[in-house]
Amino acid sequence: MIELRNVSKSFAATPAVADFSLKIESGAFFVLAGPSGCGKSTVLRMINAMILPGQGQIEIDGQDIRAMEPEKLRRGIGYVIQSAGLFPHWTVAGNILAVPRLLEWSPSKCAARLDALVALLRIDPALLNRYPRQLSGGQQQRIGVARALAADPDIVLMDEPFAALDPVSRAALQEELRGIHARSGKTIVFVTHDMDEALRLATGMGVMNNGRLVQAGGPASILLAPVDDFVRDFLGGENLQLRLLDLVPVRKLMKPGKAGTAITIAAGASLKSALNLMLARRHSSLCVEDGSGARLGQITLADIVARRDAS
Ligand code: ADP
Ligand code: MG
Repeated sequence: MIELRNVSKSFAATPAVADFSLKIESGAFFVLAGPSGCGKSTVLRMINAMILPGQGQIEIDGQDIRAMEPEKLRRGIGYVIQSAGLFPHWTVAGNILAVPRLLEWSPSKCAARLDALVALLRIDPALLNRYPRQLSGGQQQRIGVARALAADPDIVLMDEPFAALDPVSRAALQEELRGIHARSGKTIVFVTHDMDEALRLATGMGVMNNGRLVQAGGPASILLAPVDDFVRDFLGGENLQLRLLDLVPVRKLMKPGKAGTAITIAAGASLKSALNLMLARRHSSLCVEDGSGARLGQITLADIVARRDAS
């Protein structure tokens, strides 16, 4: 677990982070969201001691990070930034293996790890001998993620890693990352100002404003009950309902009975997918199935429209 307790940080007497307390459970995909300048990067950089807090404590698995050697701490925490930050004069392979080589892993262990990362992140092996400037933005960022994972850290900090990418590369990398997180059990702390990205990835979420943590919790619980107008607006104002549709599974609104159609949808699909399918096929109800194709019930357009809160 990562725990920040009453952490504050000012730059030249201007507060950047104020009285910030947060617990991030091990294995979480925690997304820290908030507008530009609200202090997200400063929080992230305090977790790996690149910035030292003015006040407060930060603990990782119960140990105060000030008691650890900063280099050692950082080697155990992957870090990915927006512009991949690759070393320009090193090849792609050299970049990916930067930390393992620093840790003096044997050449055979490095080679095995490189193979594993190439497979994990679906990197084209032809890229390995190129230099960063010979890669697209999406490819560079993929290498940046591979480099952060290279020494198999328990924690990965990611600071708007996909913000500069085109939508197709961004969506692809979000999916890779979600899969890697689900399979690895790593703790990911991911900073973004993009709500759609936050909701797509988060198992836990915090919303910041003006250096403060305004609300923390599961993404659905924050969407359903924003604590104030700032959070409501930040979550999308009028789009909030559409975002909820994306987050709530069909299962929550399903009811017994037979739909007036043979068109089916999986119980785990989102209400948004159901609505889309209804509009595309011009039907106001769908059959709901489980993963193995067994009929579970039906979902109707009227129930989606009338839903109060499907949490
Ligand atoms: P975010 O990542 O949410 O955009 P930051 O954590 O980068 O926000 O910045 C929070 C505030 O602290 C901003 O007002 C920023 O200008 C200021 N700040 C960040 N880093 C420094 C620094 N090294 N020196 C002075 N001010 C800084
Ligand atoms: Mg930032």
